[in-house]
Formats: sequence, structure tokens, C-alpha cells
Amino acid sequence: MSFGSGKLDVSFAQEILEDEKHKDVVSGLLDGSVNWYAEAAKPLKDELRVALRQASEERCVYCRRIPVVDPRTNASEHVEHFLDKSKEKYKRFIVSPFNLSISCNSCNIQKKTKDMLLADIDENSIPPTQCGQYHWLHPCYDDYFENIQIDKGWVYSIKHQAPAAAAAKNLIDECRLIVISEIEERKNAEVDSVFDEVLECMLNWKDDPNSTAEKVSSIMGRAREEVWKNI
Ligand SMILES: [Zn+2]
Repeated sequence: MSFGSGKLDVSFAQEILEDEKHKDVVSGLLDGSVNWYAEAAKPLKDELRVALRQASEERCVYCRRIPVVDPRTNASEHVEHFLDKSKEKYKRFIVSPFNLSISCNSCNIQKKTKDMLLADIDENSIPPTQCGQYHWLHPCYDDYFENIQIDKGWVYSIKHQAPAAAAAKNLIDECRLIVISEIEERKNAEVDSVFDEVLECMLNWKDDPNSTAEKVSSIMGRAREEVWKNI
């Protein structure tokens, strides 16, 4: 199973941003006359969201899980600005492809308005493109899987000799990725309890095949009806 590519390729975004139909909104976002959350920005944001989602193989760029997308609101995922768009010094990157990705709601909340750039930049410079220049792993410039390993049960660890080890540690700690394995453990406990019940029935299979089959069928039926409520 893939957790998406190590570095996000956002080259497609330029084409969307240069599309004639988005021209006014793009310039409005850049000069501040259009707000990112305004209705006018929605068609551009929706197009970016779909393309970014595809580029990241549907996964959040920070935790690499697949957000459960509810099309009614899209509230479980966000078009993420790595350099916080609410900070004056980063407003000019509001539609810069290198600054756009998809994050899940939980990671977005943990990130809040943290400043991700380690060094200051003046108003005419572009942010660094090399690895290890940011507070968290940069979606486009730091290779996620050269830095972080994800093991079964969503256990995150920093790779040996990770080139951006400090950023990987900050991401794991500040995004509280360790909590995810605890959530997964609770889910697995529900599934395991069903397996245990089935196994116990199976021990009597030879003595009483008909009744065992009925019992297993009843356990599985109940699990189908009930387990989803608890995970
Ligand atoms: Zn996430």
C-alpha cells in the first residue's frame, strides 16, 4: 500500500491558476480585494482541491491518512497553505503552487497559524526550495518517506539519518501523530473482540457443526449491525 509520493508535485496547479476564468479571482486574492473564503473564490478553490487531492493520492500531506470526504461540506479536508495565508508576510503566496496542498481537518487544527519558515525572507525573495529549511517537512521540498516511517497501526517514527530530522520530529510531535495509533488500537479492539467470539465458537465446530454455523452467522450479523457504531 502506498501512502502517496514522498514529495508533492504541484506543477499542474499553475495551469489552473492561469486559466482565464479564474483570472480576476487570482488577482483579487493577490491584491487582497477577494477573500479566500468568499463565494467568488469557491470555483477556483474547488478546482484546486480536486487536483490537489488527486496529486496526493487522496491523502493528507501531514498524517498521510485518507480523510473521509463528506461532499456536503468538504469539512474533513482543507486546501492547506503551508506558509500561513493569514500572516501579512506570506499573503503574496496565497495562490503559489508550492504553498498549496491538502490536509485533513485534524492536522489543519494542530498546525493552526504556526510559522513554518525557519529563516526570515524579505518581501522580494522566494522561500527556500531545499530540504530542511522549514519547521515541519515541506510537502514539496522535503521527502516525507526519507524522513518519516509509518508502520502498521499508524505508528510514526523518524527515519535513521533523516535529512530533515528536526522537521520530521516537529511534525510528529506538534501534529500529535502519536494519538492516531491510539485511536487505531481502539478500533482494532472492537474488531478483535468479534474475531475472539468467532474463534471460540469454531472450537466446537466438530462436535456441533450446525449450531456452530448458526452461532457464527449470528455473531457476524450482529457485528455488521453494531460494530460501525463503535469505530
Ligand atoms: Zn492529517
